[in-house]
Amino acid sequence: MLGLMQNQPLLTSMLLDFAARHHGDTPIVSRRVEGDIHRYTYRDLAARSKQLANALDGMGLAAGDRVASLAWNGYRHMELYYGVSGSERVMHTLNPRLHPEQMAWIINHAEDKVLCFDMTFLPLVQAIHAKCPTVKQWVALCDADKLPADSGIPGLVDYEAWIGGQKTDYAWPQFDENTAAGLCYTSGTTGNPKGALYSHRSTVLHAYGGALPDALNVSARDSMMPVVPMFHVNAWGLPYVAALVGCKVVFPGPAMDGKSLYELMEAEQVTMAAGVPTIWQMLLTHVQSNGLKFSSMNRTVIGGSACPPAMIDTFREEFGIDVLHAWGMTETSPLGTVCTLKNKQLSLPPAQQLAIRVKQGRAIFGVDMRIVGDDGQDQPWDGKAYGDLLVRGPWIMDTYFKGASPLVEDAQGRGWFPTGDVATIDADGFMQITDRSKDVIKSGGEWISSIDIENIAMGHPAVAMAACIGMPHPKWDERPIVAVVKKPGAQLTREELLKFYEGKGQAKWQIPDDVVFVEAIPLGATGKMLKTKLREDLKDYKLPGL
Ligand code: ADP
Repeated sequence: MLGLMQNQPLLTSMLLDFAARHHGDTPIVSRRVEGDIHRYTYRDLAARSKQLANALDGMGLAAGDRVASLAWNGYRHMELYYGVSGSERVMHTLNPRLHPEQMAWIINHAEDKVLCFDMTFLPLVQAIHAKCPTVKQWVALCDADKLPADSGIPGLVDYEAWIGGQKTDYAWPQFDENTAAGLCYTSGTTGNPKGALYSHRSTVLHAYGGALPDALNVSARDSMMPVVPMFHVNAWGLPYVAALVGCKVVFPGPAMDGKSLYELMEAEQVTMAAGVPTIWQMLLTHVQSNGLKFSSMNRTVIGGSACPPAMIDTFREEFGIDVLHAWGMTETSPLGTVCTLKNKQLSLPPAQQLAIRVKQGRAIFGVDMRIVGDDGQDQPWDGKAYGDLLVRGPWIMDTYFKGASPLVEDAQGRGWFPTGDVATIDADGFMQITDRSKDVIKSGGEWISSIDIENIAMGHPAVAMAACIGMPHPKWDERPIVAVVKKPGAQLTREELLKFYEGKGQAKWQIPDDVVFVEAIPLGATGKMLKTKLREDLKDYKLPGL
């Protein structure tokens, strides 16, 4: 027997309509590429997203066609999110930090028809446009007076002229909620980029899940700053979560340095922000070295790579800011787990609470997870046994765009997505990533977690950044070393840091064999440490005594 409830497809246009109607005057504030601060409201966002949809109709773009963006976090990018998907086209966010060759490859693979870019990326577009024959329209996300006369890009228009003459009325079409809404390629730290194609249904459900109190806990009372780029897994879905709850949004634009972020946070009274650990490290350095405080921020979402315990501790103890440590990936939309304590854990002493907070957290309703051993058998949830992390749920990917399905079947024939991460899960359901499977260090048949080694180094006051990799060893297969960037002006020797590892819960054989001081750790397109590059940089390195 079927239920007798209204069968309304879950579409991203619902989120925009809701925000415009119920939170019409709530501000959306953006730092623009030009450097000035732009302000408008959800009502304006809706009107301009409709103008954009009319412009796309006007050029005869078909349902399902891809519209790409190369842009920072800002109001025009948000209009693209809603105007493109709402009118049944597919929003494809490109990561501007990729190599131009890789970018052209992705544009051709996606068969993008329109490409909208911030002026920061004009030189990049000039370099690749001739290699992208599928793109029929290039659009500069700028005011008319900023459009260069001689860009060399055929038919280039400025966004304002493109949508300016269009009507602000548009009836969002109704269609199957499983229709594609967004396309995002993995950043390729683990090989060739692959496309995850999100549906309207997965996007809306992910926004519901993300807003929950035990997830990111977002409400109409928040002032939210997505620092994580909108080209990195849709800024973790925050532009959708924001509309779902109708909160104020503050976009940092291209200015991601500690000073600019801090000043905007204070000026706009940001209550929650989200980004990768490297960004927060820069912010903390700025705030600490200038003796500043946060006057409105109460929590920050940190994910994308493991958040060092020292960072969680500093935010909490020095600034009264809760860190929500979160885990996810492009293929999981991305929110999978968020670390928030349970009621029974609130009375634990601070050190025990910190030991929980450093974990990647509990599954959000909608995400199911397992850890399995090499034999495919489930590992116990005891916080010690580790295995390959598998996930499933309505916002987890099934098949790559124009590619294969990586899912593995369980005994009941249900498909699970293999994350490529190795993790433990404790009896309370808190998952902790020990490593990416390719970064695990295998020493004498035992595994050493590179994340544990990095976390300890990051706890040393002289260390700005640390990356642990395995080096070939004739007897042990691999031995860990740690590459370290010192804080400016700080003194630290190899021996001091190795000594610092003692008494930190590591067995003797888990302590790194060597410390290599480097100027910088190579970062990938999404601000994560690029260990493949680090291994390459250190290819002539020899372990002590070999
Ligand atoms: P890519 O795989 O191209 O780097 P993703 O952004 O999809 O792009 O990266 C997902 C991966 O990032 C996860 O599989 C995991 O290894 C890592 N990751 C994400 N969040 C965390 C976290 N909180 N702690 C540790 N690792 C994380």
